[in-house]
Amino acid sequence: MSTVAFYTLGCKVNHYETEAIWQLFKENGYNRVDFEKLADVYVINTCTVTNTGDKKSRQVIRRAIRRNPDAVICVTGCYAQTSPAEILAIPGVDIVIGTQDRPKMLTYIEQFKQERTPINGVKNIMKNRVYEEMDVPSFTDRTRASLKIQEGCNNFCTFCIIPWARGLMRSRNPQDVITQAQQLVDAGYREIVLTGIHTGGYGQDLKDYTLAMLLQDLEAQVKGLKRIRISSIEASQLTDEVIETIEKSNIVVRHMHVPLQSGSDTVLKRMRRKYTMAEFAERINKLKQAMPQVAITSDVIVGFPGETEEEFMETYRFIEEHKFAELHVFPYSKRTGTPAARMEDQIDEDVKNDRVQRLIVLSDQLAKEYASQFENEVLEVIPEEKYKEDPNSGLYEGYSDNYLKVVFPATEDMIGKIVRVKITKSGYPYNEATFVRVMDEITSEVGATAL
Ligand code: SF4
Repeated sequence: MSTVAFYTLGCKVNHYETEAIWQLFKENGYNRVDFEKLADVYVINTCTVTNTGDKKSRQVIRRAIRRNPDAVICVTGCYAQTSPAEILAIPGVDIVIGTQDRPKMLTYIEQFKQERTPINGVKNIMKNRVYEEMDVPSFTDRTRASLKIQEGCNNFCTFCIIPWARGLMRSRNPQDVITQAQQLVDAGYREIVLTGIHTGGYGQDLKDYTLAMLLQDLEAQVKGLKRIRISSIEASQLTDEVIETIEKSNIVVRHMHVPLQSGSDTVLKRMRRKYTMAEFAERINKLKQAMPQVAITSDVIVGFPGETEEEFMETYRFIEEHKFAELHVFPYSKRTGTPAARMEDQIDEDVKNDRVQRLIVLSDQLAKEYASQFENEVLEVIPEEKYKEDPNSGLYEGYSDNYLKVVFPATEDMIGKIVRVKITKSGYPYNEATFVRVMDEITSEVGATAL
């Protein structure tokens, strides 16, 4: 039996797609082996979000070639889509496929075995207007299942290369999303994370169908689904319709990840983000009214070209005032090929690092404040794994619906189930809790086998 090994760089979407590609190999009789082992085929799913993403991707490709020079080396993903020639120039690379036509991978492998000449399967992504359907009925090792609902982005922010790697906005057919969600629930998952490149943009390219309608249909039609999380949604996509839907919903979690990027109107303009801070504030305030105690997390880029101390402080104060529950802070990193990389006034690394540190301190403080509201409250958590800091302690960790990381005494059979716990000591990154009760006793395939 032939063997295949995978290596995934980058974001959740890439991880999801590796699972989808694995399904294709599985159906064709392949066995999956660890990337560090000898395999007949190596698939490297690459990332290009930063210049470092490209470099790391090249290192991993070379590692696979060294491990088994006779293997078929197949490179896919975002870096493959934007720079196929660069990848084919690495001696030993056999097949390059970008972010589309992945189902052709197996045909290309057979073709390569016969002809022994490298294949470039990358085509112009900008012409693609159709979502490429690929099944992921279960995951190898997760308690939260990702479900990809859309591809691409139409925004072209000046720091971002992703639209060139992923193409324009394409939504997945609603019925396919629902069918896939049911399969995941049937496989034992209680929580589904809706993912995509620009997830909250779902529906923009569909006629008479919206993200809000998808959320309603998932809740009404998927039997046994306990939690829906949206991986990311822009403030402008938190429409009244979406907010009303989540207000009424019993399963959309009290957690929204709303990318801010900057809290300064002038920086936002240079980033070509399509909102002002006033608009952003108005939307999240409305969300907080509809969903009291909602955890709003966000991404911020610090040190964007030309960012003055005053502009940075506008961001700082905005975050402080609006009490985000957690921030992911990124120092601006030049991405070749984007307008921002060519801008003058690039910021010194020292200044960037100093601002990153100040925001991380703020984020930690806000995270603690957010968590402290829940001390002595009972929350529902899905245990994911043994407590990482002390695996022999009998403690397990998992996330509550409002994205608090909670550690509490549990047993292996509780993994993947909804468990009630009482928060005894809030904190960040961990909150301590005592066990109250298991909310569902259905045998979970995830809990019983995969983990
Ligand atoms: S919204 Fe902006 S940052 Fe996000 S994928 Fe689109 S272009 Fe990139």
